[in-house]
Amino acid sequence: MIDEAHFSLMIHGGAGALDNVKDQKTAVRYLESIRQILEQGREILSLGGSALQAAESCASLLEDDPLFNAGCGSVLNEDGKVEMDAAIMDGRDLSAGAVAAVDNITNPIQLARLVLSESEHVMLIEDGAMRFADHCGVKRATEFYFYTPERVEQLKQAQLKNKMMLDHDETDEGSEDQKYGTIGAIARDMNGDLAAATSTGGIVNKRKGRVGDSPIIGAGVYADNETCAVSATGYGEDFMRTVISKTISDFIWMQKMDAGKATAAGIEYLRRKVNGRGGVIVIDRNGNCASGFTTKKMIHGWIEKGGETMVRF
Ligand code: ASP
Repeated sequence: MIDEAHFSLMIHGGAGALDNVKDQKTAVRYLESIRQILEQGREILSLGGSALQAAESCASLLEDDPLFNAGCGSVLNEDGKVEMDAAIMDGRDLSAGAVAAVDNITNPIQLARLVLSESEHVMLIEDGAMRFADHCGVKRATEFYFYTPERVEQLKQAQLKNKMMLDHDETDEGSEDQKYGTIGAIARDMNGDLAAATSTGGIVNKRKGRVGDSPIIGAGVYADNETCAVSATGYGEDFMRTVISKTISDFIWMQKMDAGKATAAGIEYLRRKVNGRGGVIVIDRNGNCASGFTTKKMIHGWIEKGGETMVRF
């Protein structure tokens, strides 16, 4: 149904204190990357592209930027290997595709999209997902594509301390001064259709086989044309336990909230129930944009109803 011919787009590049972004130059790099990717998404949506296409495309661009913990910038697990999770959801019919614990794939979000469109399943993991990638003719990346010097050093530090870390900028355990660098993209197109995409390398020094919230429908990602599109970033276990993305959608459906109110209610629930750490971006069916986080900051940006491009730390 075409109610209003406008589009909205939001993307994020992780939540946390972002104390690692100490110098102005690095901060500008983050903000510029977010801004440029939003502009590319604007082009897709303003030319009549679908929300699904915009979400996938923006998520792919974020995966291609080593600044973020997804795709080529993915953090390393306890074995020093990349294991990535991603999911994409189409609000038109609740179709969804997800992959978990995949490696050597340049853009896991594109593999998730193939699971959505080319398989009868919602989620494929590990070897099975890789076999499906081969079946679809997805090109494998070389291992060297992923191992940025920062990620190798980060794993070394985590292993020296003998603990898991959440992306860069680890401080005291339990402190909020951490950055959770997952990426996400959500969109409402000019037809009023919604879509959401989330992709991550997960947690530094995580156990082999650990899967976070990002590929779990209703936890790290959700889209339903009747309510909203959501992408989450933060401590995955907190989001899985609160099914945070679906919870926000339910606030809209059951309590007739808009994006702003539902996001505030979702963040309050996350904090109250599990003291959850992280944040969400939300676009409701009318194109209203909202964000909320329990960490000090979240890198994100948006274009609301075709308006100005906004970028926030
Ligand atoms: N949510 C991701 C996970 O737990 C981490 C992140 O947001 O950076 O795998």
